[in-house]
Amino acid sequence: MIVRTCNRVAHNNPKTFFTNPGALQMRALRLLCLIWLAAACDLAPQPPQPTLAALPSPPVLSFTATARPTRMPLPPTWTPSYSASATPAPRTHSLLSAEAIRVEANIAKIENRRRVNFSLWLTPREQLVQSATLHYTFPQSGKTEQRRVPLPPQKLGETFKSPLSLSFSIDQMPLHEDRIVYQWLIEAQDGSLLQTAPQTFKVTEAIAEERRDDLPIIPAEAHFWSDFPNQAILSVRLKPEAPIRQAKVYYTQNTGLVLFSFPVRHVPQKRPGEEIQISFVFNDELAPQIPWQRLEWWFVLTDQNGKQWRTQPQFNEYSDTRFHQWQRTEGDRAVIFTYERSAADIAFIKRGTDHALERLERFFGYRLLYKPHIVFYNQPRHFKAWAPPNLADRFIGLASAVWGGVVVTFHSSLEYTVYSVIQHELTHLFQYQAMRDDDAPLWWIEGTASYFEERSAQDYMARARNFVRRNGMPDLQRTNRHLVARDVSVTYFVGAAIVDYVIQTYGLQAFQRLHIALARHTPFDQALQQVIGKTRRQLSQEFAAWLMR
Ligand SMILES: [Zn+2]
Repeated sequence: MIVRTCNRVAHNNPKTFFTNPGALQMRALRLLCLIWLAAACDLAPQPPQPTLAALPSPPVLSFTATARPTRMPLPPTWTPSYSASATPAPRTHSLLSAEAIRVEANIAKIENRRRVNFSLWLTPREQLVQSATLHYTFPQSGKTEQRRVPLPPQKLGETFKSPLSLSFSIDQMPLHEDRIVYQWLIEAQDGSLLQTAPQTFKVTEAIAEERRDDLPIIPAEAHFWSDFPNQAILSVRLKPEAPIRQAKVYYTQNTGLVLFSFPVRHVPQKRPGEEIQISFVFNDELAPQIPWQRLEWWFVLTDQNGKQWRTQPQFNEYSDTRFHQWQRTEGDRAVIFTYERSAADIAFIKRGTDHALERLERFFGYRLLYKPHIVFYNQPRHFKAWAPPNLADRFIGLASAVWGGVVVTFHSSLEYTVYSVIQHELTHLFQYQAMRDDDAPLWWIEGTASYFEERSAQDYMARARNFVRRNGMPDLQRTNRHLVARDVSVTYFVGAAIVDYVIQTYGLQAFQRLHIALARHTPFDQALQQVIGKTRRQLSQEFAAWLMR
């Protein structure tokens, strides 16, 4: 029997992984989701396990610097007049250049306290700013609003000390609405206007973290040493104009969806103009680390005058060069890491992964914000050689929104591995982009992932029916987090059958609206009420009647 479970590692044994667990890492680990195999396995027998070939390792030193492709500040559009009824009527002439007021960043993010926050950094260069207004529309309902934003004290040539900022509760969005189209309108002192290009904020594709992209770049030489699984060293050399008082490292493995920052313990104090080196050690003490994860990292520095800088973000991969000659295959939608696989196999994995991502996008109604990494091991034994020892003993797949990817091992056949295991794990990435940890019960999370397995070895509907016939309908209120062996059938098979039932009965739109509601941090039971008009108990009853019909 295949047994799958979601192992909430951080609850069970945090000390094994962390010497200094912080809230951020704890949250990160709760996103781990596993498929693992029970001892009594009725699938195809495991293929023979070859001896690991220890290949000569290339030098561990690697240094790459790639231009940062994402989220550049938007160029403002310069408009002499604005047709909306907003703000004071502009003069039709303008003597200002587009550089007169520089727009640094135009972002909207979702904050933990269920608020959407819009912010804009400005530098008045030739004209002071007279007023700033945010215009926004909810496209489904057509509802439009405009809000004037207070201005901080300003000086020509100086960037505002804090960004223009507006936030409102996510509950102010009309029901089932997932998008806000917004633009800023800045009025200069002479009455002419600067209008930023319209932007769309989507709750299911929103970034929650503050990356400090607004800070100026300080010139620095970046180095990345990868020595998997021991550590990676992130390091910059620079000559600051004033002594650096404080340094923090920032890194993300998925375009800022989850952002980490840690203070740097030792910052060398040297005279202005002398070169200093600032380093940070990245390893398993921060969280269990997978090979080939994509690291985007930078430092934020504060000098003794309180001025802040950031170093140019770098992109690197935490390369595992120990046992295998890994091959990196980058497609439009995912990056796949394999070894000892034929070109035909790699093409098959890539095709299946692209297909899964396209299908999940269609079902969920949103895209992943990042290109996931798929790490493909040929043997459970190889997989275990990497895997942290106190995770489940035998498991075949693992997904994390923190890593922005999945790790799988070959199981049963290439087709099963690609069209079931990878599909299952990719589903978790879609879920954890929109919803937060604990936003939905485990039977919904694992049930949905099982529902999306196209070549599953088991027929979840038949298994769910057998389970309910033998045991009666499980209590969906109680089957939440604490997974015991008996619950596995509930979580995966009954869960998948319920997802199937919801989509068949209420339509794909209901499935999508449920995820929009969860992305808006609506509690699961309230989201069910909003979308299908049923309590969890009512859903359970009507599902059971349908299943046993
Ligand atoms: Zn799962």
